[in-house]
Amino acid sequence: MSNGLVVALSGGVGGAKLALGLSRVLAPEDLLIVANTGDDFEHLGLSISPDIDTLTYVLSGLDNQVLGWGRRDETWSFMETIATLGGESWFRLGDRDLALHVERTRRLRAGQTLSQITRDVCRQLGIAQRVLPMSDDPVRTRVRSDEGWLDFQDYFVRRQCKPVVHELVFEGAAQARPQADVLTALASGTVRAVVICPSNPFISIEPILAVPGLRDALARCGAPVVAVSPIVGGRAVKGPTAKMMQELGLTISAATAARRYDGLLSGYVVDPADADDVRGLSATIKTAPTLMTDLATREALARIVLDLADSLAPRR
Ligand code: GDP
Repeated sequence: MSNGLVVALSGGVGGAKLALGLSRVLAPEDLLIVANTGDDFEHLGLSISPDIDTLTYVLSGLDNQVLGWGRRDETWSFMETIATLGGESWFRLGDRDLALHVERTRRLRAGQTLSQITRDVCRQLGIAQRVLPMSDDPVRTRVRSDEGWLDFQDYFVRRQCKPVVHELVFEGAAQARPQADVLTALASGTVRAVVICPSNPFISIEPILAVPGLRDALARCGAPVVAVSPIVGGRAVKGPTAKMMQELGLTISAATAARRYDGLLSGYVVDPADADDVRGLSATIKTAPTLMTDLATREALARIVLDLADSLAPRR
């Protein structure tokens, strides 16, 4: 019997770690993962959805654990060849990974939605959980930096997050419609918990919350909203989360990440090392080890998040 639906909001690498943990402790039909598409872009004529792809590779066990992104057993003939032609090689696309982008692009051009394509890819890869984009309409994160306005992947990959960030905008978000099945699920009255994965708040979770109606639907679904801090021991585990906090004039702390979700959070899981930082937040704090180094720590954190959510659930 179902224990209720868990709706997880996720970016790429950090988010997918907890999403995998959740997938191992929940029945497949009880997990719906809402993926950020603000990182999506068009490159070499292809439609690329990095966070959806990270989630699908991780959940299917096809992820490249050596690189920490992309597909396992990857080869690079395409990249090497395009470089010899003087083509663009700054965004690395492995040969196997390339097939997914080619297939997605073909289907988008034929008029199918990103949701349909993602659903089918998940089925093909043996993923029983639902992974859905936050919207089928294009949303594109752009960065105002000391080098001017940059498209997200220009900032993130080509410039390796080196430019100083002054502002982030989610182009298209104001016109984007939330993915319909996500809204239906949130309105169903069957949601057990909303989990905000330990993703970068600025570029992975805020684009999701910027889709009109989604934040409200999350707040009104009747279930506790629990986040895991992406800041562990006062530092980002990986990526530009801490750097962005500093450049945006914010304190680098677990509390800063939580404040990005003000009005939404009922529970917050932080590392014991960050306990002092989060005093004064209105969310219920649970301290626990939040560094996910292997499958066991992913599962353990997933259980802690669900226990916290259940302890905060309104009595029905
Ligand atoms: P991206 O879209 O690939 O950049 O990935 P996300 O936004 O989903 O995740 C990036 C964030 O994940 C960074 O802020 C990291 O600090 C955080 N992160 C990565 N691994 C872990 C982990 O094991 N535990 C926690 N708590 N955070 C993590």
